[in-house]
Amino acid sequence: MAETSYDWTCDERVVELGGVADPAQPHRLQPLIMDCFQQIVGELDSSGTVEGLLAVPLLIARSPEPDAMLLGHPDGNAIIMTVGLAEAIETYVQGALMNPDFLSDYLPEPLTNGLSEERREFGTHLVLHMLDFVIHHEIAHDIRDHLGVLGEERGAAELGEVLSLHAIEHGDELYRFIEFDADIEALDLQMHEMGKFGEIADWPAAEVEDAFFLQMLAMLLTCQILDQAHEPVQAFGARTHPAPVHRAVLYSDTMVTSFSEHYRAEDGWFKNIHDQAWYEASIAAETHGFPEGRWRGLKMADARFDLLDPLRPVLIEFRQTIGMRGR
Ligand SMILES: [Zn+2]
Repeated sequence: MAETSYDWTCDERVVELGGVADPAQPHRLQPLIMDCFQQIVGELDSSGTVEGLLAVPLLIARSPEPDAMLLGHPDGNAIIMTVGLAEAIETYVQGALMNPDFLSDYLPEPLTNGLSEERREFGTHLVLHMLDFVIHHEIAHDIRDHLGVLGEERGAAELGEVLSLHAIEHGDELYRFIEFDADIEALDLQMHEMGKFGEIADWPAAEVEDAFFLQMLAMLLTCQILDQAHEPVQAFGARTHPAPVHRAVLYSDTMVTSFSEHYRAEDGWFKNIHDQAWYEASIAAETHGFPEGRWRGLKMADARFDLLDPLRPVLIEFRQTIGMRGR
């Protein structure tokens, strides 16, 4: 793929998002995001997971609204992450870590005047993993040519994470399947980078447990940040985008299946770590004002996870169709 020649800084959609952050006066979190992105690109390129080299650039827009998106252009797409999303991730993690009940089995309590050293250090890891999750998701949209599909089917040339959640279009299945497809593809990319799945069989159990737990918790908390509407999960049936909690269920189910296939462990071992991650995430959710049960917790039945069951076979079929494109 050729280098993109299009000047994204002048793109109308980017300008609307406050323009691109000035590289001479970078936002505090900008180096962290760019390092994360460069590392992912480097790992994807050297692992040969993606055909050719990854050409999609990542730009940081100044908008304070949390959002990430893939913008389309004939010269090549671009990933946009807003400063607002990076800040929201940081604030969300800090808020959760200030709750002594969050990760109480793993970390000492927060201090009265701020986070303890251990909590601060864990927070830094968690923020990085959340950025990693978002960037992989957007890269997956690009690799799977979701904008190509949308362009043909709906004439759309952009795919935003938050804005579309509030879109009033009635239950557009295409958008919904595209989001699920990007999540599953992103997980696949993450696991194939640097042959993680090739090596994982030899890892000590504690290391696999840590990696699995952190990745799942990062995904859950990111989905919570995207879950801004606070409306009943069922209401998402009438929206283009799936309820973030359903994305999280599908992603974490897939994680259990994929890890179980690549690492020999006792029956239910991964499911147990999965449940711990969901439990901790439910505490983070309640810390941030979500009603009890929306992110599981005690009233799990309220979250209506069964709504996903009829969807799974259709989603597998959709993934196969998308995978056939351009071959
Ligand atoms: Zn998406």
